[in-house]
Amino acid sequence: LPMASIPYRQLFINGEWREPVLGKRIPVINPTTEVAIGDIPAGTAEDVDLAVEAARNALTRNRGRDWARAPSAVRAKYLRAIAAKIIERKSELSKLEVLDCGKPLDEAAWDMDDVAGCFEYYADLGEGLDAKQKAPVSLPMETFKSHVLKEPIGVVGLITPWNYPLLMATWKVAPALAAGCTAVLKPSELASVTCLELADICREVGLPAGVLNIITGLGPEAGAPIVSHPHVDKVAFTGSSETGKKIMTAAAQLVKPVSLELGGKSPIIVFDDVDIDKAVEWTLFGCFWTNGQICSATSRLILHQNIAKEFIERMVIWAQNIKVSDPLEEGCRLGPVVSEGQYEKIKKFIATAKSEGATILSGGSRPKHLEKGYFIEPTIITDVDTSMQIWREEVFGPVICVKVFSSEDEAIELANDTHYGLGGAVLSSDRDRCQRVTEAIRAGIIWVNCSQPCFCQAPWGGNKRSGFGRELGEWGLENYLAVKQVTEYTSSDPWGWYPSPS
Ligand code: NAP
Repeated sequence: LPMASIPYRQLFINGEWREPVLGKRIPVINPTTEVAIGDIPAGTAEDVDLAVEAARNALTRNRGRDWARAPSAVRAKYLRAIAAKIIERKSELSKLEVLDCGKPLDEAAWDMDDVAGCFEYYADLGEGLDAKQKAPVSLPMETFKSHVLKEPIGVVGLITPWNYPLLMATWKVAPALAAGCTAVLKPSELASVTCLELADICREVGLPAGVLNIITGLGPEAGAPIVSHPHVDKVAFTGSSETGKKIMTAAAQLVKPVSLELGGKSPIIVFDDVDIDKAVEWTLFGCFWTNGQICSATSRLILHQNIAKEFIERMVIWAQNIKVSDPLEEGCRLGPVVSEGQYEKIKKFIATAKSEGATILSGGSRPKHLEKGYFIEPTIITDVDTSMQIWREEVFGPVICVKVFSSEDEAIELANDTHYGLGGAVLSSDRDRCQRVTEAIRAGIIWVNCSQPCFCQAPWGGNKRSGFGRELGEWGLENYLAVKQVTEYTSSDPWGWYPSPS
């Protein structure tokens, strides 16, 4: 693979590569070099129509080879074949993800392991679906028998962000396909490259035509038509709360179900009974991993006053020692953020924090040793007030803000002082306290004595403006299943059900 370019790809519709109907393409900029490394197709409503039709045909009109009616064990075989190809192409896919979105190569490689693991996990979980069909429901009358069928919800629209390009797509594609749904995937315009390689893998393993269609392009042009398409039965979305609102509004017009995995401003509470070195490490990891572009980044540090001075001093030294470099370089821990737009947005957040009276204790700009690329040093902000933008809004970059507390109640109040409810972390050696705080924080994911670990077996998702619905685990599979109740009359007497006089 030439390191400075990406493969030329078209849209993936009905198992084939197709030029977009309007013939437009979007340049792909490497955020490390700021240089174009190729382009991706820009799909529009016309392409979405073709993709949805292909998905509909593959679902139930495929002359007896419908994906929805295929034995769950057969579907599982395809998912396992995809997982095997991901591992086979891991090194190439990891490099492509680095070129496309700037994450350190090690992290991209771990993501590919997670992608393969997620396909395998849903192969195993989905394989058991047929055996679980016809689960009986107990009724109070003997003349009736009832059972439940779990059926694929239909054609699903999957819209995903750029921070974990292939992994976020996989969190949706794997359970959707395992459940027997067919899909149209729209990855982010800023990071579609590895999703187009997933299309190539589907072609290689012979996934039946139309089961997975991939339309790259701009959100309003290629994403919005998926949401409003009458033949898309459900939309699963991961992205910002602002776009989530638009999607919910558009889907409401057709009373279409949606699941929304949105942004966050998650807290990390550190009590004074921790091992400071370990706690500093989790704090930095929890906010600066993936260049700080994690929806659940614990970007509000709520720190006990007894250790605040020492903790912050060590945190600054460690942050300044994080290796910021070309993400393909060995040992890189922080690469560039994904795009110029994101770079400018983060710089503006930092400037506003400063103008509102906060102190930029460390970082705040591009490191001096790097002349180009959308790099931002790990940034630590103190003297923060809860009314400030930096405390309230999601930055989605390597920026952490710090507030000091003196009592458990105050820490909980600060943690819950947000419209978001995605993640939260508590660090303390007192287990009872950890439990109290876990129960008190209003969020969908709580980490105790760590921050960010994520397993495809456990549910993922938020509360409040971080969205609703859960991905991963068995909850992720349920997202793509519809429940059908079947009730049968078992008596030969048509009036056998009618109550007799007592
Ligand atoms: P975004 O701007 O909301 O975009 C997400 C996806 O929606 C992209 O594919 C985008 O396409 C598309 N889109 C934009 N406008 C649309 C419209 N009107 N109709 C349909 N689709 C539309 O989010 P992002 O900047 O890619 O990702 C960062 C955000 O994702 C952060 O807020 C982060 O917290 C959140 N996130 C949440 C989770 C979670 O699990 N809760 C996980 C990862 C990320 P374009 O790229 O072409 O605009």
